[in-house]
Amino acid sequence: MLLYTKHPISIYNSLSKKKELFKPINKGSIGMYVCGPTVYSNVHLGNLRTFMSFDMIFRYFKHLGFKVRYVRNITDAGHLENDEDEGEDRIAKKARLERLEPMEVVQKYTVDFHNTLNTFNFLPPDIEPTATGHIIEQIEVIKVILDKGLAYEVNGSVYFDVLKYNESNNYGILSGRRIEDLIHNTRALNGQSDKRSPQDFALWKKAEKNHIMRWPSPWSSGFPGWHIECTVMSIKYLGKQFDIHGGGIDLKFPHHECEIAQGKAWNDCFPVNYWMHANMLTLDGQKMAKSTGNNILPGEILSGNTEKLSKGFSPSVVRFFMMQAHYRSILDFSNDALLASEKGYLKLIDALKTLKNLVPSSSKSKFNVLNWKQRCYDAMSDDFNTPVLIAELFGAVKYINQIKDGNNTIGVEELEILKKTLNNFIFDILGLENEKDKSSKSKLADTVKILINIRNQARKEKNFKLSDQIRNQLIDIGIQLKDSKDGTNFFVD
Ligand code: AMP
Ligand code: ZN
Repeated sequence: MLLYTKHPISIYNSLSKKKELFKPINKGSIGMYVCGPTVYSNVHLGNLRTFMSFDMIFRYFKHLGFKVRYVRNITDAGHLENDEDEGEDRIAKKARLERLEPMEVVQKYTVDFHNTLNTFNFLPPDIEPTATGHIIEQIEVIKVILDKGLAYEVNGSVYFDVLKYNESNNYGILSGRRIEDLIHNTRALNGQSDKRSPQDFALWKKAEKNHIMRWPSPWSSGFPGWHIECTVMSIKYLGKQFDIHGGGIDLKFPHHECEIAQGKAWNDCFPVNYWMHANMLTLDGQKMAKSTGNNILPGEILSGNTEKLSKGFSPSVVRFFMMQAHYRSILDFSNDALLASEKGYLKLIDALKTLKNLVPSSSKSKFNVLNWKQRCYDAMSDDFNTPVLIAELFGAVKYINQIKDGNNTIGVEELEILKKTLNNFIFDILGLENEKDKSSKSKLADTVKILINIRNQARKEKNFKLSDQIRNQLIDIGIQLKDSKDGTNFFVD
């Protein structure tokens, strides 16, 4: 029997606000879309948490034998500073400040994003579409929505007509916001006088004279609104109705509410069956965010080069820390929590080593391996409950240590099941790596990367004495650093 029929999954659906038995549209296949990063700066650990939650979900689906098409986009245009269609384009602003082409900014941070995900052992999505690669498709969809009378053009910009849509639909179906409240509470911002009503949102914006990221369209030389890219790219690659759409909980409104409205307006059906939202990583009780500077970067946690940490932590310890919380719970980042996670992770990895040397026996065990295995699947199939899974893994650790100390026994078959199940859950599903087992080559690479991070930090702080010392001492032992616009690489002589 296929694993996915043996372990039916229930998923908390943000749309129905309850856990539902997951039924894919096509048996055995899943279409999943997750909102990706806006590539105008390095991702921080908060962003990483959301992407890691969906990496774990993707891994579990694959483990159960589903054929998954996982689409995660790159937002490289259209995301303005202010989510209410105001302000400068985030990428264009960065380009202006750094005197770069916007596409240089996009390239730099896309490369950084991919490097970070590699470091943290992510599986790549199957398709990673970009907003700028789908301008034509976005224009075509806007035309359809206009033809249906659910959008209007003013001075070269096109806006979605929320009130008109709401006459026969429920704008607010996902977020629970009431249209009356939205009308009263949405600020009428400068430059928004074009909108018929303040809660309307842009599908296409006419570019101001100094706006460099622009494309021709039937309405103006301009750029697409932020929400339309996800509607267009998810539906292009997954169909007009697909299984799962995910993202951080802060995207529920307005981004995902707008996606539902756009998809319904375009195709006369709801685009997504299961909406999944990952909760926030906080620092000192406040949401980690790029804009406020209240964040930790992946390089900082690896090197420990931040006042928030007493030392650096490995990628698997960070992953273990993230997985100890349920993806729908808020998780607060702290040095103490990381230290505790490191202890837990090492205990788990040590138990795997012990397991390798255990000798099976025929006497009756006091631990039922098959029941334990079922409980591990039950935890994951109950809306991806990784903290409960990890508690079960520690149940197995206790059992392994009892066998080692001669206080319990294990049969030949049970030993094989225990090894296979632990490997599946720890490595394939949680995505942890056995860092103790990593070859000396990759240890060298990791060590040099840590030094590169410390050197970059030193340069940022204008501590050139330290940055030169790192570079020169590495040269002395035959390691050359090469700086380029995409970051620093190293070569061993
Ligand atoms: P952005 O690049 O700002 O569009 O964000 C990329 C993803 O990171 C989105 O799914 C956000 O919801 C998510 N995100 C942003 N801040 C946090 C945070 N503090 N904790 C968890 N996820 C976050
Ligand atoms: Zn999106």
